[in-house]
Amino acid sequence: MTNGPTRREFLGSMAALTMFPLEQERPGLILHNGNIGTVNAAEPHAQAVAISRGRFLAVGSNSDVLNLAGPGVQKIDLGGKTVLPGFIDAHAHPSEAGRLHLRMVDCDLRSVQAIQAALRERASKTPAGEWVLGFKYDDTKTEEERPLTIADLDAAVPDHPVRIQHRGGHTSYANSLGFRKAGIDEKTPDPPGGQISHDPSTGKLSGRVAESANDYFHRVIPLNFTREDCREGVKLISKMLARAGITSATEAQGVPEDLRAYQDAHEAGELLYRAYCFINYHFLDQMLEAGVRTGLGDEWVRVGAIKLVCDGSISERTARLSVPYEGRPNDYGILVMTEEEMYTHGRKAHLAGWQIGTHANGDVGIDTTLRVYERLERESPRRDPRFRLEHCTIVNDDLIRRMKALGAIPTPFSTYVYYHGEKMRYYGADRLNHMFALRSFIDAGIRPTQASDYPPGPFEPMMALESEVTRTDSKGNLWGPKQRITIEEAIRVGTLHGAYASYEENIKGSIETGKLADLVVLGRDPLRENPSTLITIPIERTMVGGRWSFEA
Ligand SMILES: [Zn+2]
Repeated sequence: MTNGPTRREFLGSMAALTMFPLEQERPGLILHNGNIGTVNAAEPHAQAVAISRGRFLAVGSNSDVLNLAGPGVQKIDLGGKTVLPGFIDAHAHPSEAGRLHLRMVDCDLRSVQAIQAALRERASKTPAGEWVLGFKYDDTKTEEERPLTIADLDAAVPDHPVRIQHRGGHTSYANSLGFRKAGIDEKTPDPPGGQISHDPSTGKLSGRVAESANDYFHRVIPLNFTREDCREGVKLISKMLARAGITSATEAQGVPEDLRAYQDAHEAGELLYRAYCFINYHFLDQMLEAGVRTGLGDEWVRVGAIKLVCDGSISERTARLSVPYEGRPNDYGILVMTEEEMYTHGRKAHLAGWQIGTHANGDVGIDTTLRVYERLERESPRRDPRFRLEHCTIVNDDLIRRMKALGAIPTPFSTYVYYHGEKMRYYGADRLNHMFALRSFIDAGIRPTQASDYPPGPFEPMMALESEVTRTDSKGNLWGPKQRITIEEAIRVGTLHGAYASYEENIKGSIETGKLADLVVLGRDPLRENPSTLITIPIERTMVGGRWSFEA
């Protein structure tokens, strides 16, 4: 023993070795004097974080972390403000929404008059004869409590063609010149699978068209987004998400243009959130030929799941249900793909190592999707496939048991109860206790995520928290109170669970040493807030990878 190191010296040298990189790496930034909710069960609360090269170098008490400060370190006193991990929107359409925001008037306004004013303003800057376009209009949300009419739109903009898309995406509204350009008049018959609405008293066009009748407009409205436009769209939506405290989002119906737009925006320094880009199944063969699968990319732009679609929508009442919609005894909703089609595409993706995300809203849609997933796992078991059920709105005990057995991930709408309360009555009080079923998922050991589906649902995480914790809409109506969860659970759903859904729980979703420095600074503490005012908590700053993406 005299020539060799003693046990103590040996352990000492080990300690020195593991300390060495830490001593080398000094933090560039320290945030201290904060009320930090880490979402890390081992250390749920901290006062300070040290950040270096985009990651948390240390998380702990003020004194521990400030001790690491070397010369030149930037120190920010948080003044006791609350910090949480950056929010993860696990199902949205941000790249697509960004493109629409570039070209279209945002009609999420509370009166017909306000919409008219916004259209008039856009028309004044639009060359004669060109379309004035709008989106995010919702007929249930204007104070006049009636839908837009052709006369409203003619009065606002008589000399440009106008078309406004409904927030849900299945109906739209136009002015007289718009209908003329689209080749529709009073006598045009409804196309198969579509509807041209008429004023019941006069027989004249009402201004509204639904479903496939929208194609008349698609044929004559040139959107022609260039590669630059797509990049600009990501830049624009980046700022909107950053302002809301979002640091990661899934592009839930991505196409190759979206994947390229994300890369272009990132290269230009304009991407302010981490994108997990699903690929629509129409492009599966091309992706397989190129050898691409889920996970390719880096922590900023990553290829996500293959997207399949099983049934219809919740907000427009076409989800496939086992029990019909309230007051519509023969209406069970629709199935979009057959089980066999889903299996054929799903099998190809599953065998090639892709994650699969299937749009499934109604209990019948979810049952069908689970049958496909169960068959894939039975025939070709794969380690940790993390099958996703996009939306997964209406469940029952059997569906939950099967999801748990498969390890499947639901991404229920987070802001629908609060924002779309007026549409909830179509589902009935009993069914609402089985919708957006966060309580049931969490109790079963399943990891649901926060998901907006923006544009159809608002993406603001504070609205999601309030919606999930209170199950109350903006007018105070309670919908499905059995599914309420605690604020701590809602925060975990909006952060760590979102990271798990994209296989990234080891690099983000909580404030832990070694993880990406993604966080949000809030004006007040959600844990101490009255649940009915959570939505009013201001987002003061958002950080992604150690840099501020938003500062109020
Ligand atoms: Zn969606």
